[in-house]
Amino acid sequence: MLNPLARYPEVQAASGRQMLPITLISGFLGAGKTTLLNSLLTQGDGRRLAVLVNDFGELNIDAKLIVKVEGQQMELANGCICCSIRDDLVAGVENLLATEPPPEQLLIETSGVSDPINIVCTFNTAKVRRKIFLENVVTVVDAVHALDARDTEYAQLFERQIRGAYMIVLNRTQAAGPEQTQKVRKMITDLLPTASIFETDNGSVPLQVLLGDSRLGQSTFRPEAVMDPASHPFESMVYRSDKPLRRMEFIRTMKSLTDTVYRAKGFLNFKNYPLTTLYQKVGSFESYVDGSAWGVSTPRTELVLIGVSSRFDREALTAALDACVG
Ligand SMILES: [Zn+2]
Repeated sequence: MLNPLARYPEVQAASGRQMLPITLISGFLGAGKTTLLNSLLTQGDGRRLAVLVNDFGELNIDAKLIVKVEGQQMELANGCICCSIRDDLVAGVENLLATEPPPEQLLIETSGVSDPINIVCTFNTAKVRRKIFLENVVTVVDAVHALDARDTEYAQLFERQIRGAYMIVLNRTQAAGPEQTQKVRKMITDLLPTASIFETDNGSVPLQVLLGDSRLGQSTFRPEAVMDPASHPFESMVYRSDKPLRRMEFIRTMKSLTDTVYRAKGFLNFKNYPLTTLYQKVGSFESYVDGSAWGVSTPRTELVLIGVSSRFDREALTAALDACVG
């Protein structure tokens, strides 16, 4: 079995105790972080993993989408672990460290608007820092959408997600095609010349690549992380309805909101339809996937919407979705 600590004998010796290796999974909204996390969890290798999932929105949808974890799983919602709920992140890690037996590895899925450099800063200064070490910061980049981020309000956040990475997982390369993939690779290496880039088409990466790569030793030479409290101009809201939505109306409404809502995800209750529907939207890409039958649970719609602050009008969004009820 891999022992990540074997690569850090000096760290281990200095601490005199086992330190919990942490891998951050970062990446922009919809880049494929949950898919990557699921691929790691399904592979497993006997290591006692703990998983901490952060959703920026009030609902932790991602936590519902990850496969069953053998070890501990913790969810942090209603805030971002890089800024508004930094204390919750540290408390969560402390709780995990106190469990018996403690996990051998912690995977943290950050929210899509999290700045990984801010999270590194949090761990550098937190009082748990002697009990943990950051083994890897992986940023998932969607090869299809990456170039669109350059001239947006969130370009700075997107860049920090890349510059903060120890390793880049370049996802959906087949959908992007070789020419665009090459352009994205150039964009990444312009921002992070030493980037180690792993290409994949379906978000899956061998466990050993992310949780045991000797090249990660270079992390010690990285420039000091500096907090940027204003790095993400995003807001979120949750739309809920106990009444069913008309499918065609909903489809039409979400199409009309493409400029306002960058990311949406949640479970929908459609009129005259017996199954839950998992809805996901990233930019102009949307997917509707059948889930289980409602069974004994009360059918209801719960949808997280995320958009750029300057164009995000909660009342207008609620009204637009309310108009789909009936
Ligand atoms: Zn944040």
